[in-house]
Amino acid sequence: MREAGQILGGVIHELKGSLKSGVTTKAVDTIAEDLIQKANVIPAFKGYRGFPGCVCMSVNHEVVHGIPNERILREGDIVSMDVGIIHKDYYADTAVTVGIGKIGDELQQLLDVTRESLHRGIEQAQVHNHLTDISAAIQKYVEKFNFSIVKEFVGHGIGRNLHEDPEIPNFGPPHQGPILKAGMVFAIEPMVNLGTWQTRILEDGWTVATMDGKPSAHFEHTVAITKNGPEILTLCPQ
Ligand code: MG
Repeated sequence: MREAGQILGGVIHELKGSLKSGVTTKAVDTIAEDLIQKANVIPAFKGYRGFPGCVCMSVNHEVVHGIPNERILREGDIVSMDVGIIHKDYYADTAVTVGIGKIGDELQQLLDVTRESLHRGIEQAQVHNHLTDISAAIQKYVEKFNFSIVKEFVGHGIGRNLHEDPEIPNFGPPHQGPILKAGMVFAIEPMVNLGTWQTRILEDGWTVATMDGKPSAHFEHTVAITKNGPEILTLCPQ
């Protein structure tokens, strides 16, 4: 899983470099497919329950599960890219939200707070903590800024399957759920909205968007719990 995470970190790093005004989300997905093929690993999302792309590309008010399409990215947009791969029968899963060119201050804060909330959650992924210590740390940080947390979609265990137990909500009281042990691996993934927490599914049957049309951000890492603390497996090279 460490190897899988390292490969995926490299893929998402390259994808970030490909994002610019004038590019379609479909073109970014094609780049991802090439990178994944070159790395000799399998795209985990392509064909998953019929999903057509390698990357979920969710723009502005889209939260998660956006289908790559002919939409052209423009300066001021924010775009979430969520990618998974399979390497030697193990999965890795990561997501990042990136601004195209110059974005507004409020959007920048939404991105910064969502990224930091992921790290606050990861800090709690410690042996002897309870599962929901992760959830509570994320919620506590996000709500300081009056942003809202998506409730219908949550993080998850990951290993030989993309989605394993337990579910990891990004909200709720601490000190509940299973006690964490070394060797557990989680995909922790806060989805944070500028407006209401509520979402709806668009007509394509996949794309999740905010109910009020306001923007949303999403960051995710695959994280192993070790006796020396949390280890982020999907770190991007600098
Ligand atoms: Mg995930």
